[in-house]
Order: sequence, then C-alpha cells, then structure tokens
Amino acid sequence: MGNHLYDALFGRHEGSGADFLILPDGGRVSHAAFAARAARFSGALAAAGLAPGDRVALQLEKSPDMLAVIAGAIRAGVVFLPLNPAYTAAEVSYFVTDAGAKLLLCDGASEAALAPVADAAGAALAVLNADGTGSFAEAAIRAEPLPVVPCESGDLAALLYTSGTTGRSKGAMMSHANLLSNAEVLVDYWRFTADDVLLHALPIFHTHGLFVATNVALLAGARMIFLPKFDAGEVIRHLPQATAMMGVPTFYTRLLDDPRLTRDLVAGMRLFISGSAPLLAETHRQWQARTGHRILERYGMTETNMNTSNPYEGERRAGTVGVPLPGVELKVCDGTGAELPRGEIGTIEVRGANVFQGYWNMPEKTAEELRPDGFFITGDLGHVDGEGYVTIVGRGKDLIISGGFNVYPKEVELALDALPGVLESAVIGAPHPDFGEGVVAVVVPEAGAELAPDTLRAALGGSLAKFKQPKHIAIRDGLPRNTMGKVQKALLREEFRATFA
Ligand code: ATP
Ligand code: MG
Repeated sequence: MGNHLYDALFGRHEGSGADFLILPDGGRVSHAAFAARAARFSGALAAAGLAPGDRVALQLEKSPDMLAVIAGAIRAGVVFLPLNPAYTAAEVSYFVTDAGAKLLLCDGASEAALAPVADAAGAALAVLNADGTGSFAEAAIRAEPLPVVPCESGDLAALLYTSGTTGRSKGAMMSHANLLSNAEVLVDYWRFTADDVLLHALPIFHTHGLFVATNVALLAGARMIFLPKFDAGEVIRHLPQATAMMGVPTFYTRLLDDPRLTRDLVAGMRLFISGSAPLLAETHRQWQARTGHRILERYGMTETNMNTSNPYEGERRAGTVGVPLPGVELKVCDGTGAELPRGEIGTIEVRGANVFQGYWNMPEKTAEELRPDGFFITGDLGHVDGEGYVTIVGRGKDLIISGGFNVYPKEVELALDALPGVLESAVIGAPHPDFGEGVVAVVVPEAGAELAPDTLRAALGGSLAKFKQPKHIAIRDGLPRNTMGKVQKALLREEFRATFA
C-alpha cells in the first residue's frame, strides 16, 4: 500500500531534476532536492519519537524548509498543524495543547518565549530557521531518510485551524483524500499544467497558500516562484516570469495602487485568482481596465478547501464566487436545513469529498455543523442565481437584527461603496436599547476625498429602507484586517459596543 497524498503530490516527482521552487534571489530547488530534504525531515520526525498519527506543530516563517517539513510529515504519516507566526506564545499554547502535539517547531527568535509553552504542553521544542539552520535542521542531517509510510485515503493528514474570525479557532481534521480530491479538481478546473509558473506570495499556514496554491502546483508539476511574503515591489519584479497568481483581495488593491502595474508587465500571465475574503466588484473592474485580465474569484474555507469557482472559460461574474466545483453539492437552506427556493438568501451548506472529518476535540461543535447526511453548514449566508452563480452576502454571525428585521451587512456596504468618495466600508450591529441592534457603518474614504457622516446618511436615504440605514457612521483611514485580508468585524463590534448605550 502506498501513501495516498504523498505519492500523488511528492512521490511522483522524486528524483526529477526539474525545478520546483524559484527563490527570490534566483536560487532554484529541484523536485529531487526537495524530496530528499523532505525524506530527511521525516527521519528527524521519527527520531524525535513521532509515530504515524502523532501531531507536529509548526510556527515557522515561510520558507522552502517549512514546506519540506510538511512534505516530510505527510511522508511519515505524522499529522501537522501549521500556525500563524503572528500568534503570541499564549495563543500557541492553546493550539499545541489542544492538538496534543508531541513536537513544536519554531524559529530561533521565538525559542525562549515558547520553551515554557512546549514544557507545559508536554511537547518537545526544536528550531528550524527560514535559512535552513537550527536544531531540527541538524537533526535532519543526522537522520536516516524514512521510507514512505503507508497511509490510506481516510487517514488524517493535517489539523488545520480556522482563522478565528468568528470565535476561537477550531482544528479542522483534513484527511489525505480531502486534500487530494480538491487539488485534482482545481488543477483541471483552472487548467494548471507543467508549463505553469505560479507566483506564490501567500502564507503557508493557511489553506489558501498551502493546500490550494501548493497542492495544485505540485499535482500539475508546475513551478512556484516562492516569495517569503507579499510585497508589491517583489511581486511586480517577478510577475513577468509567472503565468498564474493566487492572492487575497488586498494583493490586488495594493498592486493597483502601484503605477508599475501595466498590461505589459502581465503579458505572460494567464490567470489571476482571488479568494479568502470578498473581492470588491470595483477592484475586479479596475483590474480588468488596467491589465486586461478578469480576476477569477473562488470561495472556500479551512474545513472544505474550495467549494465554488468562477469558470475558466465562460463568464467570470464580479461580485459572485462562481458555481459549485465538480463533485461539490451546494444548497442554500433555512435554519432547519430545508432548501430554500432559488434566489433566496440563506445559509450555504456543502457536501463532497472535500468536506473535512470534523473538528478535533470538539464533538459537539462537529455535530452542530456537520449533518449526518454529510452536508457541512458553512455559516456563510448567500444566494444562487438562475445560472447557478453563488453570491456570498456575509457570515451568519455578522447578520444584524434591528427592530426585528434582518439587515445583511453586505447590502449596506455595497450601497455605501457605490457613493462618491467611498473606498470601502464595514457594517456591523451594536446593541441598541430600542431596536436590539443598531446598524453601525465604518467608512474609508478614497485618497483625498472628504466624507461627512450626515451627507452619507442622506445619500443612502434613496437606496435603503429606513431600518437598514446606519444609525451611526464613523469615518476611518482603514479597516482592521488579518493576514488573509479578512475584515475583523469582531474587533469593530467590540469598539462600537457602547455606541447606542
Ligand atoms: P473562523 O471559522 O475561525 O471564524 P474563518 O472562517 O475566517 O475563521 P477561514 O476558514 O480562513 O476561517 O475562512 C473561511 C471564510 O472566508 C469563509 O467561510 C468565508 O466567510 C470567507 N471567504 C472565503 N472566500 C471568500 C470569498 N471569495 N468571498 C467572500 N468570503 C470568502
Ligand atoms: Mg469559518
């Protein structure tokens, strides 16, 4: 028996001298060199006492070695959990303890802060720096490469923790088949081949950069220009060598702010993909005007990988996330799980080989969100049009109920964004003594524009019913966002909690 995920992603390239990673300094990592490194890391994991099914936590800066440890873990049947380097020691403590990790890998710079965390959790601690040094790198040099450990399709590959946008992060149990099946669909749907060069500037602790981008590149045999982080100048420098890029919406808005982004610069590109947070229709339009490319927006989440995508050929409809991917069933339901008529807004539920195995250590939460028939209740609200295109209108937890009426923040945000001088906005509910919740809008002006709350309110009068109109409007320079470009509405709710008190 083979190793379901390892064989498909890595095993097939073992011994190949073809380039896998292109580094910012022009250095190259071949598939053969990468696989050899991964095999040594799998040996180091075994030498550290990790057996198949044990967990290794990684809080590492993005680097080729971080990816090689992940490949090594899959090879060894060890379950890995990649963690955002921005997490504090207290946050890491939650993940390491929750996952019952036997080993925590960190950067040298955080070793002192994490030593007590690892101790308390009963985990060993080892260092792997982005430049390939550290105690775990040394252990890898000493270790005998481990033969590929057999793993079946249903075995756990990763515990991927959700972003924690709506509450405490949950560990999504991803099986080998969850990950491989989705990557197979995406390679085909987005037409990835061995001729592609994917510009990779996303983090690899999150599903977008790790499973969507990397697994697709590996499966297609494509190369990746592997940048340590998003930097507009660096992305612009590398775009002429790339054929495809995956990004969060902020990549696109930042690139649009740079005059070096031109049609010529992206003449060799065939595909720009966006996801992880809503792409403004305005960004979509500006991108097309400037580059000639229509961004392909798709929709997914930690628990499911990708669910829907705009088509490769056919209409990429701005403001929508496209249609369900092959093998994914999607329906819009009311609170009881009954499917709503087409066009109505409700909770999006999905089913398919991509859907996770449940939340680690959270059987009640799993039972609440994963129906016995296999449908996963995403918590996102949306509707489907006559041609099957899905529009996300927000998260269930962000829905505002004011005076007994539902207010979908997205509707108010779209009305605000359409007003002259408005760059973007975020709409939240704040406790209100009469209405239960009152609508609060945080509005960001375009560069140089002067906005006044009263003028904005008056301008909305024509387009929105009274109960949807913001009772309070705050003007800000920007919205609080996490690394994946998601607006942190929980922070805003906290900030405006006493607005109507
Ligand atoms: P948590 O579940 O811990 O609250 P999270 O849901 O933000 O965090 P992720 O799994 O990283 O964690 O994000 C998935 C969510 O991102 C989706 O449920 C959806 O709300 C949002 N999302 C992803 N892609 C898109 C998109 N193209 N348009 C709108 N929203 C998107
Ligand atoms: Mg979520």
